[in-house]
Amino acid sequence: MADRTLRPSPISPTVDFSAEGVQHGFLRLPYSRDDSAWGSVMIPVTTVKNGEGPTALLTGGNHGDEYEGPIALFDLARTLKAEDVTGRVIIVPAMNYPAFLAGTRTSPIDKGNMNRSFPGAPDGTVTPKIADYFQRMLLPLADIVLDFHSGGKTLDFLPFCAAHILPDKAQEAKAFELVRAFGAPWSMKMLEIDAVGMYDTAAEEMGKVFITTELGGGGTATARSAGIAKKGVANVLKAAGILKGAVEASGTTWLDMPDGNCFSFAEDGGLIEPLYDLGDMVKTGAVVARIHPVGRTGVEPLEVKARMDGILAARHFPGLVKSGDCVSVLAAVVA
Ligand SMILES: [Zn+2]
Repeated sequence: MADRTLRPSPISPTVDFSAEGVQHGFLRLPYSRDDSAWGSVMIPVTTVKNGEGPTALLTGGNHGDEYEGPIALFDLARTLKAEDVTGRVIIVPAMNYPAFLAGTRTSPIDKGNMNRSFPGAPDGTVTPKIADYFQRMLLPLADIVLDFHSGGKTLDFLPFCAAHILPDKAQEAKAFELVRAFGAPWSMKMLEIDAVGMYDTAAEEMGKVFITTELGGGGTATARSAGIAKKGVANVLKAAGILKGAVEASGTTWLDMPDGNCFSFAEDGGLIEPLYDLGDMVKTGAVVARIHPVGRTGVEPLEVKARMDGILAARHFPGLVKSGDCVSVLAAVVA
C-alpha cells in the first residue's frame, strides 16, 4: 500500500492528540446531504495524555448494534483522569457513529460495514472515509488497540476476549498477554471467516498489539456483559502500564477455534429450534439446532450438525433463520 497516493483525510479532529490533559471533542467529517447542506458527522472522541508512555486506542461501535464497548468507553471517557494515566488513551466509543445512532450493524448512509472497509478511502463514502482516518491517522499513534465487539442483533456469544494467531510470534504473545489481563470469563484464539478489510488485520499488519472481544449479543447488553467490558478495559490499561493500579485478576477458560469446522451454516431458512445453549458441550455429529420449514405443516425439519467436539461459543440469535446464516460456532476448550 506504500505506493498509494492518497489525498488528505477530510476528517478534522477538534482535539489535539499531542496535547497533555483530558480533551473531549469530535472527529468531524463533512457530510453534505438533504437536511444539512454543509453538515458534518460528529464522531465523539476523548484523548487523555500525561507525559511519555504507550498509547492505547480504544474503540466500540465498530458495528452499530453492539453495546458493551460503547457503555464501557463512554463511561471511561467521562471518568478517566490525566493524573491516573502514563502515556495516552484515545477513546472512540462509537467508531461507526452513523450505524451506532441507527442501532444497525452497518451505516444507514452507505450500508458500510466498518469491519470490512479497511484500509478505507479518503474519497469514498462516509464509512470508508472513517476507516481511512483510523488507518492513516489513529492507528499509527497507537501501541495497543482494543476494539470491542458483541454479536449484534443476529448473534449471541459467550463473553470472551480474543486475539489472533499471527506470523510474528512476539506480537502474538503480547496480544494474548493482554487478553489474559482483560479477564473475561472466556479467552479465545480467534479464527476469522473472512479477514479481508478488517480493522483487526489493518492494526496487526501495522505491528500493533491488537485485541478484540465478543461479549454477548442480541442487540443489547446485560448487567453482566457491561461489567465484564468495564473491568476488562481497565485491566488492559493497567497491564500495559498506562493506568495506575493492579490488574484485577480473575480466572478465564481458554478456547480455540482450530479450523473452519467450528462454524455451522444454515442451508435453508425457517424457524430455528436450538438444541444446545451457549456454554454447553457438543459432540461431533450432534444436532446443534433444527430448522423447521414454515411454508406448510407436515415437513421434516433440517438438522444442523456439529462438525467438531466443543463448547457452544456463539449461536444465531433471532427466532427465524435464513439460508447461509451462521447457526453456531463451536470452540475447543484448551486444557
Ligand atoms: Zn462486531
